[in-house]
Amino acid sequence: MRHHDPPHAPPTWHTLSKQQVLQQLTVDPTQGLTEAEAASRLHQQGANTLPRAKARPAWLRLLLHFHNPLIYVLLAAAVLTLLLRDFVDAGVILAVILINALIGYTQEGKAEQALAAVSAMLASEATVLRQGGKRKIPASQLVPGDLVWLESGDKVPADLRLLRTHQLHISEAALTGESLPVSKQSEPLAAHLPLAERSNMAYSGTLVSRGQGMGVVVATASQTEIGRIGIMVGEVVALSTPLTRRLDHFARLITLVILLVGALVFVYGYWVRGMSVDILFQAVVGLAVAAIPEGLPAIVTIVLAIGTRIMAGKQAIVRRLPAVESLGSVTIICSDKTGTLTCNEMTVVRAMLWEETWRVAGVGYTPVGALSPLTREREVGEPLPAAITALAQCALLCNDAHLLAHEGEWQLAGDPTEGALLVFALKAGLTVEHDQQAHPSVDLIPFESEHQYMATLHQGGLLLLKGAPERVMALCQMSQQQHAQWQVRIEQAASQGERVLALAAAQLDGASCQLTPDMLQGMTLLGMVGMVDPPREDAVHAIAECQRAGIRVKMITGDHGATAEAIGRQLGLLACTPTTGGEMDTLDPAALAERVRHCDVYARASPEHKLRLIMAMQANGELVAMTGDGVNDAPALKMADIGVAMGHKGTDAAREASDLVLTDDHFATIARAVREGRVVFDNIKKSLLFILPTNGGQAGVLLLAILAGVAMPITAAQILWINMVTAVTLALAFAFEPAEPGVMDHPPRPAGQSLITPILAARIAFVTLLMIAVTFAVFEWELARGSSLEQARTAAVNMLALGELAYLFNVRNFTAPAWGRGGRRGNPVAIWVCLILVMLQLLFTYLPLMQQVFHSEGLDVTSWGLILLFSVLIFLLVECEKACWRWRQVTRI
Ligand code: ATP
Repeated sequence: MRHHDPPHAPPTWHTLSKQQVLQQLTVDPTQGLTEAEAASRLHQQGANTLPRAKARPAWLRLLLHFHNPLIYVLLAAAVLTLLLRDFVDAGVILAVILINALIGYTQEGKAEQALAAVSAMLASEATVLRQGGKRKIPASQLVPGDLVWLESGDKVPADLRLLRTHQLHISEAALTGESLPVSKQSEPLAAHLPLAERSNMAYSGTLVSRGQGMGVVVATASQTEIGRIGIMVGEVVALSTPLTRRLDHFARLITLVILLVGALVFVYGYWVRGMSVDILFQAVVGLAVAAIPEGLPAIVTIVLAIGTRIMAGKQAIVRRLPAVESLGSVTIICSDKTGTLTCNEMTVVRAMLWEETWRVAGVGYTPVGALSPLTREREVGEPLPAAITALAQCALLCNDAHLLAHEGEWQLAGDPTEGALLVFALKAGLTVEHDQQAHPSVDLIPFESEHQYMATLHQGGLLLLKGAPERVMALCQMSQQQHAQWQVRIEQAASQGERVLALAAAQLDGASCQLTPDMLQGMTLLGMVGMVDPPREDAVHAIAECQRAGIRVKMITGDHGATAEAIGRQLGLLACTPTTGGEMDTLDPAALAERVRHCDVYARASPEHKLRLIMAMQANGELVAMTGDGVNDAPALKMADIGVAMGHKGTDAAREASDLVLTDDHFATIARAVREGRVVFDNIKKSLLFILPTNGGQAGVLLLAILAGVAMPITAAQILWINMVTAVTLALAFAFEPAEPGVMDHPPRPAGQSLITPILAARIAFVTLLMIAVTFAVFEWELARGSSLEQARTAAVNMLALGELAYLFNVRNFTAPAWGRGGRRGNPVAIWVCLILVMLQLLFTYLPLMQQVFHSEGLDVTSWGLILLFSVLIFLLVECEKACWRWRQVTRI
């Protein structure tokens, strides 16, 4: 019987038995599909991807670029100019509005593409059985009939009919809106049940919140329930951030000021100076056009987008654009320990029996290394004690990891803690096949950070348990004295930075095939093992760098207090005396807020503790970045100012809750992202620092001319020309500007600090005045020496453009001298844009067409000489101003 559903009738997979489902999908449950069959089904069915959310149509997006108060003012100016029958100027203004919208539109398109490409790097994976082997494949490659494993934190990659479940709970909020996770099972159900009650199905796009399961794919891509009801996946890339919104606000303010000043100028010119309405309109239009920083929004977006791309190149993928800005002002980074700060290559180095402790030699996952007693030499031919073999057997059987020999190298598939235990068992002479065949596994309770243990039940009633010593000892029979002695030995091993795990066993009467937590009691402690996981070298450097940059690094780990303290010291954390989860439970929020000021190491902490810690730090006014990987870390990741998920070992749930994903899981990557965030913020500031004096200078020149009652040194069309060429060429250079020297040597920018600081405003005012002075001087000097009005204006335009060019080299450093940076740290884009600008200015001055449109005229050598002289003067004067700040020890502005 084949499944013949009409395309829109609800599928009835939930009513069929497991055998029927497997039969219909023609798949062998022990082997999975063959690669050939999977490929042919993929060809037939298409890739397992859902239609992405559609962005706005292109025409609307283009139109939206005109929806801006600044552009309204420009449009009004164009209309006014038309009314004055000045068709050329009106044409230029309209052309600029159009070009500006086009530039904004393409830049935005590029920024969106860059972000979309970056988020595509986060495609999820699925664990499947194919051709008899378990492997990870991209979720997009799944086909109906594939057997897929699910575990907590996974996003269900396709619609599955569940075949096996173990405490499987799935949150189906994405599909049904129900926020509580629902419990799943694998038996057939009645036909009429609504979607939300089909407990033997797992639907694409929902999240596994707990437990494990396995199922067969029954539908992929748009055939899935989520595809059928038309929910679009993937967020539309949002380009608006708090910063761009603030800039929008700023732009509105400027518009208001322009309108006000324009009105005043009109009144003043008409009544006080008795100027004609025509001339006044021209002046006011020129003023409006001059003061409007049209290019600014596009520049900021492009700086943010390029910052995102650079971060992606450094293994840090930004999921939400605002994170790029806030990264620069992070004051605390909270990090997990295992795998982020440490190498996550565990090696068992000690095995503790009740009688004595043994050393285990060898490094890595190669199962070669001798076992010998700690306090004496092992005699030649001395057999391993039976207690060691029992310990090793528990380590091997209560284990989910696999070791693979690949071209002479041993690789681990699974959790490193379990890998270390497996290697230990092999070093003790056990073999995986033999022991697993002798004691086939019947059921298990998987490891979860919350309960900190894992247990397995084997045929014949053998119950094995391993986990954190406190948890395991609490389930074992032992005297108080034994307990106390073990405590001392645990502390001893942990204080060397070792992770200690206790292993225990019990023999159950009767053949049970279900394992529940209440069966874990009265067990016998077999012993303990201590394993090392060295700190990552690059993490040590990155922590030191963060500390220099005024960022406090805190470690939050599930490990033992003494282990955490030892590792914390090796990493160079500042306050290593640990606070444990138990202690945190006794502290009220105020006390915890006080504690977090002085403590950098948190041990035996659960995801809820992470949440409390974030709240405590935020209550102290800190801006917190927090790492996480498990499904239960999602709330903490959302609460943190920057949630950082692990791309490698992290779950889909954690990734979806995060702002930043580390593709390599390393702490050093966070530090690099913070550094890049600072650079982005600096570059936005530099763009402002650059663009605003251009507008200020032009507006000032016009205002001065009106007040003084002399001819306008530049026309509206010419102003627009300068704004365009400087915005599309020069300002773009700042998106590619490398870091300031010492960008990580100063404390974070205080949260809420205004974008334009007093020193920044002072610099803008200073350069504005300089620009006004030199432009006016060149214009008046040309007139005085008998040049035509057109020539004088052309000279003024070139003065502004080349003055900007010279100033570009000042702005590249806030206060450090411009000549300090060569070769490696240079910005080739800056050189290119300067060349382009010079070319454009030459065209402006000498091309007949341009001369017609802009009323420009050729200049002689003397004019050029003066312009160049003044440009150099601007450069030198700004350098002097910078030197003054340096002298006052100011390096940031
Ligand atoms: P971090 O939060 O720094 O990454 P972690 O995530 O490694 O630390 P957990 O994985 O929560 O911390 O582990 C907490 C404790 O649980 C460990 O100290 C160890 O005692 C125990 N444990 C870890 N892995 C396993 C496992 N696979 N089986 C049994 N117990 C384990």
